[in-house]
Amino acid sequence: MRASQFFLATQKEAPTEAELISHKLMLRAGLIKRLGSGLYSWMPLGLRVLRKVEAVVREEMNKAGALELLMPAVQPKELWEETGRWAVFGPQMLKIRDRHERDFCFGPTHEEVITDIARREIRSYKQLPLNFYQIQTKFRDEIRPRFGVMRAREFMMKDAYSFHTSFESLEQTYDVMYQAYSKVFTRLGLKFRAVKADTGAIGGDGSHEFHVLADSGEDALAYCEQSDYAANVELAEALPPTAPRAAPAEALREVETPRQTACEDVAALLGIPVQRTVKAIALMAPDQAGTLQFHLLLLRGDHSLNEIKVAKLAGLADFRFASEDEIRAHLNCPPGFIGPVAVSEEVKVIADATVAAMSDFVCGANKPKFHLAGVNFGRDLPEPVMVADIRNVIEGDTSPDGKGTLSLCRGVEVGHIFQLRTKYAKAMNATYLDENGQTQVMEMGCYGIGVSRIVGAAIEQGNDARGIVFPAAMAPFEVAIAAIGFDRSDIVREAALKLHDELQTAGIDVLLDDRGERPGVMFADLELIGIPHRVVIGDRGLQNGEVEYQARTDAAAQAVALTDIVGLLQ
Ligand code: ATP
Ligand code: MG
Ligand code: MG
Ligand code: MG
Repeated sequence: MRASQFFLATQKEAPTEAELISHKLMLRAGLIKRLGSGLYSWMPLGLRVLRKVEAVVREEMNKAGALELLMPAVQPKELWEETGRWAVFGPQMLKIRDRHERDFCFGPTHEEVITDIARREIRSYKQLPLNFYQIQTKFRDEIRPRFGVMRAREFMMKDAYSFHTSFESLEQTYDVMYQAYSKVFTRLGLKFRAVKADTGAIGGDGSHEFHVLADSGEDALAYCEQSDYAANVELAEALPPTAPRAAPAEALREVETPRQTACEDVAALLGIPVQRTVKAIALMAPDQAGTLQFHLLLLRGDHSLNEIKVAKLAGLADFRFASEDEIRAHLNCPPGFIGPVAVSEEVKVIADATVAAMSDFVCGANKPKFHLAGVNFGRDLPEPVMVADIRNVIEGDTSPDGKGTLSLCRGVEVGHIFQLRTKYAKAMNATYLDENGQTQVMEMGCYGIGVSRIVGAAIEQGNDARGIVFPAAMAPFEVAIAAIGFDRSDIVREAALKLHDELQTAGIDVLLDDRGERPGVMFADLELIGIPHRVVIGDRGLQNGEVEYQARTDAAAQAVALTDIVGLLQ
């Protein structure tokens, strides 16, 4: 590819709304263009990257025996009513009505559609197991789209669904998918970790997530160096056994205000051994339906309220750093209900029961503040509902398998596999006839990869002051030729075109910068867009039969004989 015939649209500055380095770099490199909130166009350069990721995913799915199909993005309401998810999926689902007043959604996921196919097409145990997959556009109306393509509303997912006659068969395919995912992320050159995971709105039993490791990741992961234990911190399993709920909550209500509560008192009241140190901050804000909700945040360590490490913002599936102002903006607190409404003293206990008790307490104790403000609960506003589902794991805790201590890191969820068992098949009556002619319900698994999110996650992991450092497997071009004086030197033009053609013949994706720009401009662009290898061709080097070669991660260039360069790059 010649740069003069391609579309490079790099920018010096990133728009200010981009928070993460990957988002900034994707915009600056011209990989994507924003159309609206959570909506991005993949420009020719970015699409090359996306397609490379897609190709690796497709190859590994095919190798693992999955069969590609393509389902409609728009799905009828009736299917979702069969599983009850039309009502429970919530505001993330984009609902659409057609000209005949019929309801549809733009698919956030495809369990219903594939189960409908399975129940119509699969008759006999002889046809099973089967694993279908697609690579397709999903839409989820995320409460806060951000980080560019990493939390977009419209995004590209690979979703696979497997059908089985037995749990053993499901476990086998689940394992094959687990291995295939490991291969995908290894081939893509990513540092990743597989962890046990919660099953969320998809449901089912066993589940693992695959995370690209990055400090900016939204998920906190706990893992044990001494064993293979690894789990998303959201998982309750990582916690010590919980104490009974009701009694401690009652006891806490008797304490006057949170500020006066010493951690030892709370621990004593709860009768739970002191294990951890947290602070709680309660905020009040309406949810999407307008119901007033209390949100409880647990803060860890000595963070000031302006630089809070948020263990979890309850009600929002989110782990991240945030300032108090940002949290307020995030929760869209109306002026009358300025958060935080209460901050507790440090409490050195934490377990499910404690969290519930603390939230009851912190919020309950502050209800009178709203009566001051002239609010009559039940008349002006609904009774506050507590939203608290907070888990907390601390570095150095004993691992739940007892084999060592836990370490923490952060990750970007790029893949998620589930053992759905019979949840969907039962609800939708997806059955087959077994060896004895008996009707049986199918076992199911499902397996997602965030194809477009991977591009952002990879850049989050691979970048430096000069721009993107793409792993070779997903770089838009593998080699760049910077031809100095292409427009005025015959020997440069000749050598550059010849090298370009030779590399192309050797099956290498090459971009020849033939724009006749100054070297500084060319180098800045080629580095920003993250091409792994660069060859500089200029008059001076050619006189000695040499070109300059530099890998994107090298500190300096080296002279290489023109005759050796193709061999070196192969
Ligand atoms: P998250 O926890 O990040 O919201 P999820 O658990 O809701 O993700 P799944 O239902 O497990 O997502 O979907 C499978 C994969 O799709 C995820 O592992 C992720 O890589 C990708 N994905 C989910 N939501 C988005 C999004 N809004 N933008 C880009 N990719 C996404
Ligand atoms: Mg989600
Ligand atoms: Mg998740
Ligand atoms: Mg998930």
